[in-house]
Amino acid sequence: GDGGGSGRKKPNILITGTPGTGKTTTSSLLADAAQLRHINVGDLVKQKNLHDGWDEDLQCHVVDEDLVCDELEDMMEEGGNIVDYHGCDFFPERWFDCVVVLQTDNPILYDRLSNRGYTGSKLSNNIECEIFQVLLEEAKASYPDNIVVALQSDSIEDMSKNVETLVDWVRRWSPAS
Ligand code: ADP
Ligand code: MN
Repeated sequence: GDGGGSGRKKPNILITGTPGTGKTTTSSLLADAAQLRHINVGDLVKQKNLHDGWDEDLQCHVVDEDLVCDELEDMMEEGGNIVDYHGCDFFPERWFDCVVVLQTDNPILYDRLSNRGYTGSKLSNNIECEIFQVLLEEAKASYPDNIVVALQSDSIEDMSKNVETLVDWVRRWSPAS
């Protein structure tokens, strides 16, 4: 087709989900396998100071969403990016060809976050976020239904299968599609 082409030669993929669902591990494997650029937004925010200080209650940086979008714009226009972040409602819709929401069963996620040192409200907030499928709802509200996909990420087998599925999708993607 000729309509609405983005001008990108390679697709942009957003990998989102509750902390601990495997975004960074999956993104990194996919980036290697499909030769895409992995952008870990959390790391970028810290490296480039794209925040307005520290939120004591939530125990995280207060991300400056406009600064993040400005920082990413040129790379996103070029294409070939995997954006790895636990939020998805502030990126321009036009940036992404595929939005992946990773999901993990609660007992498994609980163990992963505990191992990461999360306790108290930081742990329970994230568990609730997963129970209520906050990221899936956010993705559905922010992007066209036909580009949003939920993938289970409980086991290493799940992760391998997800990477394989996404590598196939990248191979089949064409700029006109
Ligand atoms: P996120 O970036 O979403 O916070 P990570 O990729 O950092 O998650 O993964 C959190 C932890 O869980 C890591 O120790 C990682 O190895 C493990 N993990 C992530 N996904 C899976 C999976 N599908 N199966 C087994 N372990 C996983
Ligand atoms: Mn991560």
